[in-house]
Amino acid sequence: MKYVNEFRQLEIAQRLAEKISRATTKPWKIMEVCGGQTHTILQYGIEDLLPDSIELLHGPGCPVCVTPVELIDTAVAIAKRSEVILCSYGDMLRVPGSECDLLSARAAGADVRTVYSPLDALAIAQKYHDRKVVFFAVGFETTAPANAMAARQAKRLGLSNFSLLCSHVAVPPVMESILGSPDNLIQAFIGPGHVCCITGVEEYELLSEKYNIPIVIAGFEPLDIMNAVWQCVRQLESGQACVQNEYSRAVKRKGNAPAMSILSEVFAISDKNWRGLGVVPASGFRMNDGYAEFDAERIFGLSRQTVQDSSVCISGQILKGLKKPYECPEFGRQCTPETPLGATMVSSEGTCANYYKFGKFQPKKLCDGAAEITSV
Ligand code: SF4
Repeated sequence: MKYVNEFRQLEIAQRLAEKISRATTKPWKIMEVCGGQTHTILQYGIEDLLPDSIELLHGPGCPVCVTPVELIDTAVAIAKRSEVILCSYGDMLRVPGSECDLLSARAAGADVRTVYSPLDALAIAQKYHDRKVVFFAVGFETTAPANAMAARQAKRLGLSNFSLLCSHVAVPPVMESILGSPDNLIQAFIGPGHVCCITGVEEYELLSEKYNIPIVIAGFEPLDIMNAVWQCVRQLESGQACVQNEYSRAVKRKGNAPAMSILSEVFAISDKNWRGLGVVPASGFRMNDGYAEFDAERIFGLSRQTVQDSSVCISGQILKGLKKPYECPEFGRQCTPETPLGATMVSSEGTCANYYKFGKFQPKKLCDGAAEITSV
């Protein structure tokens, strides 16, 4: 399969691993930003191909994982209203709020529906004129344009019973917040390929220059990751720090202009509370005033108060690369994908969920490893 099989070849991965081993003279800590990349790293056992001196840290690029508790509580409160149909993606229904998740709200009688696109929610709004249909919209710059399109379409159709409960976030500000933190460990980033398809790479160039850090934009197949690690190591070992676009089959320097245009039409930049990480300035998207009539928070007028995550959950430290899931005392005990205590155990892109699924219960040297890249 074009663009899949050619990025999963074991022999090439092994050759890259040898190059990385030969070039590495000291320990380096590299963070992959995107949860999809984390999934690939765990699924294909990529860490087990790398020398011990290369440590991969798993960043905050899972939108489900960083949606704050209080927004889940707001979604639950809206869903419980008899006139509301609340729609979202399946993962969001299982994220714990302070008292319950959306699945529990549904079990208690709320009309909560799983959809695969915001247009599904729009179709429900067209069908049920006597109900208020709320789409719980989460995601990074990658998914935000599609949700913005749904709002624009609702406006065009004159649908007054459709709104978005918006939890969109932007990646570069949270990377900057990690880099600016006094306990930062990150020495290079594997940049989020799908986000850069929309935004382009210029914001990353500013970040790289400001913090003198290599950023290698990469895709999501095993060889994308291996090559990104190799390019990070090359830069680190030679004292370079620049942005390299290693996902040029999808990412253009300027990104996707129509997608960026609709983002700025529907959304405005705002400060945002990230679950486990706290408030990051200018890192979120809220509905702008021109779309106020489609903003669920304004329509339902629910006040949000910051709510703390479970006291045992260390997902904030995991998302900053300071800890690994197996260092959490509840990992695989009280906290499993069936009984998640924190959001990073819910999504298929969540670090804790991936460590659990692929059996990574111990540090690398003690671990037998997960699946291996298979030659196809
Ligand atoms: S294992 Fe569960 S409780 Fe521990 S950090 Fe991960 S999500 Fe939080």
